[in-house]
Amino acid sequence: MDLQEQQKQHALDLRYLRMARIWAENSYCVRRQVGALIVKDKMIISDGYNGTPSGFENVCEDSNGLTKPYVLHAEANAITKIARSGNNSDGATLYVTASPCIECAKLIIQAGIRRVVYGEAYRLADGIELLRRAGIETVFLDVDAERTSGTSNR
Ligand SMILES: [Zn+2]
Repeated sequence: MDLQEQQKQHALDLRYLRMARIWAENSYCVRRQVGALIVKDKMIISDGYNGTPSGFENVCEDSNGLTKPYVLHAEANAITKIARSGNNSDGATLYVTASPCIECAKLIIQAGIRRVVYGEAYRLADGIELLRRAGIETVFLDVDAERTSGTSNR
C-alpha cells in the first residue's frame, strides 16, 4: 500500500470503529457494552454486541451484578451470526470496540479473519498476542484522540 492508500484505510478504519461503538449501544449489558462489525470486500457482512444467546432474557448480570457465564461477547455474536448466513468471514476485517479476549481470539483465527481493528486495550493482552502469533494484523485505534486531533483527510 502506498501512503495515500494507507491514509484512506486509516480513515475507513476509524469510521468503522466509530460505527462499532454506536452498535455497542444495542447491548443491554450494564457493566460493559461492546460492539463488533465484520467487513469483507468493503461490505459490512455481520455485526454483534455482547449479550445473552437468542431466546434468553435480555439481562447480562446476575443478582450480584456479575456477568452471567453464558453471555456471548460481541465478536462471538458477530462470527456466529455469519454461521447462520450464506456468507463467510474468510479474509475479513473485524472491528471491535475493546481488544478481544483469548476465547474470542481463538474464534477469530478459526473464522479466517485476517485483520482486527480494536478501540480499547483490555487489561489482559493475551487475546491480541494470540492473534499476532497466528499472523493476524492487529491495529489499535484511539477514536477519541483521533477525533480531537483533527487529522482526518478528505
Ligand atoms: Zn471475548
